[in-house]
Amino acid sequence: MLPYGKQTIDQADIDAVVEILKSDWLTTGPAVDRFEKEFAQTVGSQHAVTFSSGTAALHAAVQAAGIQPGDEVIVPAITFVATANSVLYCGGIPVFADVNPLTGLMDADDVESKITEHTRAIITMDYAGQPCDYDRIHEIADGRGLMVIADACHSLGATYKESSVGSLTDFSCFSLHPVKPITTGEGGMVTTDCERWAQLLRQFRNHGITSDYRQRNQEGTHAYNMSQLGFNYRMTDLQAALGISQLKKLGQFTAQRQVLADTYRVGLENIENASPLFQYENRTHSNHLMVVQIDQEKSGVSRNEVFNCLREKGIGVNVHYIPVYQHSYYKTRLGNMDHACPKAEKFYDSILTLPLFPTMKFENVEFVLEQIRVATNSGTARPSVSHLAA
Ligand SMILES: *Cc1c(COP(=O)(O)O)cnc(C)c1O
Repeated sequence: MLPYGKQTIDQADIDAVVEILKSDWLTTGPAVDRFEKEFAQTVGSQHAVTFSSGTAALHAAVQAAGIQPGDEVIVPAITFVATANSVLYCGGIPVFADVNPLTGLMDADDVESKITEHTRAIITMDYAGQPCDYDRIHEIADGRGLMVIADACHSLGATYKESSVGSLTDFSCFSLHPVKPITTGEGGMVTTDCERWAQLLRQFRNHGITSDYRQRNQEGTHAYNMSQLGFNYRMTDLQAALGISQLKKLGQFTAQRQVLADTYRVGLENIENASPLFQYENRTHSNHLMVVQIDQEKSGVSRNEVFNCLREKGIGVNVHYIPVYQHSYYKTRLGNMDHACPKAEKFYDSILTLPLFPTMKFENVEFVLEQIRVATNSGTARPSVSHLAA
């Protein structure tokens, strides 16, 4: 099965991890510090704080943003459940905003219409790897004193008007899961420009304790204080060393993804019943996901039928994502919200994620395109992309 995404690991990555295994620090050591410094430099933020997962990173950011029980936080309807769950972890109420049906990105006008006196923050999500409309989001948030947290789990390596994702909001949260732009196995990161918030994030990942083991060692003291209720959300040095090694290749991975995504887009021009998402000119894309929309009316087949056809051919297509409020837990917790975000629901019915990862072969892209053409009844012109392969 051709997967929709997968990691790229080379000998340098393996060597970096083995070196840590032979060192004194398997966790809370110098590799974590170094990874944080290099990550912050890469995205142009003042601080970066590692976590055990992207979900833990989101939880910590929502906590550090001061979200309290009863506070409302606006999140996109189309996202991974962890975006909205992070609000629930803090006792907050996720309020779902509809998405642009051509991009899957949160619709800023709908965000504005959902603001109440209880709204405290907006969590954006850069769907598929394309940054959302940060100017509009800031316009809405800044005048009202709302925090902006970016769920940037898709968009490491992308830019908005020349600024890197990770430097655009109060907090930016990244996942380092194997399918994401770079990986540490499991892992996460929060970037921020505020020293005090960075400190809160560091404490939160370490039980809410104000110093870590290495600091106490250096200061020759056993005493520590727990000042808030935190978690063990720490990243190991094994993971951090892998992260440092992967980060060196972020530019290369992004470029490889871009060429493959361009190849898909050129091929899709000849497939009338399937189209790629709309892309804005003032931002670059990380191409984390290659999403196409199936035109059910013209093709006469549903997304699910196309999904099944491609799976039968060994193509590991996927669907990102069902509107969060349609999960049974959310229905029980927040009530039935059917039709709350009609564009998101329609978008969900149309989308299919195609395989895309840095080491994918051009022949594989061509094969996927040909199978989509057949499955969507899109005429007979064979989508030719071979001239791009050179
Ligand atoms: C992957 C992902 C997460 C969660 O990250 P984990 O590292 O798997 O916990 C959160 N939000 C989005 C949009 C993601 O894609």
